[in-house]
Amino acid sequence: MKRVIGVYRNQHTHWVGDGLPVRNLFSYDRLGQALSPFLLLDYGAPHHFEPTTRQLGVGSHPHRGFETVTIAYQGGLAHKDSSGGGGVIEAGDVQWMTAGAGLVHEEFHSPEFAQKGGILEMAQLWVNLPAKDKMTQPRYQAITSHDIPTITMDDDAGHIRVIAGEFGGHYGPAETFTPINVWDGQLKAEYETFIHVPVDHNVLVVVLNGELVINGTQKVLDSSIVMFARDGEEAIQLQAYKDTQFLVLTGEPLNEPIQGHGPFVMNTKEEIIQAFHDFNNGKFGEIAR
Ligand code: MN
Repeated sequence: MKRVIGVYRNQHTHWVGDGLPVRNLFSYDRLGQALSPFLLLDYGAPHHFEPTTRQLGVGSHPHRGFETVTIAYQGGLAHKDSSGGGGVIEAGDVQWMTAGAGLVHEEFHSPEFAQKGGILEMAQLWVNLPAKDKMTQPRYQAITSHDIPTITMDDDAGHIRVIAGEFGGHYGPAETFTPINVWDGQLKAEYETFIHVPVDHNVLVVVLNGELVINGTQKVLDSSIVMFARDGEEAIQLQAYKDTQFLVLTGEPLNEPIQGHGPFVMNTKEEIIQAFHDFNNGKFGEIAR
């Protein structure tokens, strides 16, 4: 079985704007190369919002050099960007935004969710782009839950949704720049399953909520990531102690330098300075009103 080399938990919540309370489960400034091509994951654990006519979320801000992947679990989110991309996602939907050469975007609660109020639960993953594609044209992939193949486990123990990559012969709808898998899973309490991952990928299991035991020995609580050795093994055993929602992220490492500052992730300091320069000179465009 694939060897666990680290488990990290973060229960501390910080607010992105005024509408997105999230726990940062990993970030490239600490674990960048070990988790390449994944840069960051914020988990927005379930949070109740009262009905409001205000627009809660985070207003116009830039990105360059990577992709943001937002998964809605409960509630609704609205997105709009300067390249013309935008849309509303609801429970089960995913927005896959390629910032590439640069855009500005805003991320708010959907008007319908704001009006009704309720529980918001979401996750946002940042996926790095290889150096040769960092200045690619921005793109927006709207992925609805209907587009995402769901593989039900034996005994109805749970399921895996293939957002990107391939699982058991089922292919995810997201188009990616490098080989990655993004699997969104649920496992019911008292059940177990085996997951097989590519041996040449960096591999992460993210426990969003619930509680798992990995490979029979490693207990993992909610809001945690589990890192694995690249030891040639491909099997990971998951046993659920509680109903558990998890992500499995695997990807071919880029093996390129990572230089990031805030919303920009490039390969060199000069490229970061250039990104600030270009943004300050309006080269990322504006969100159409
Ligand atoms: Mn953003």
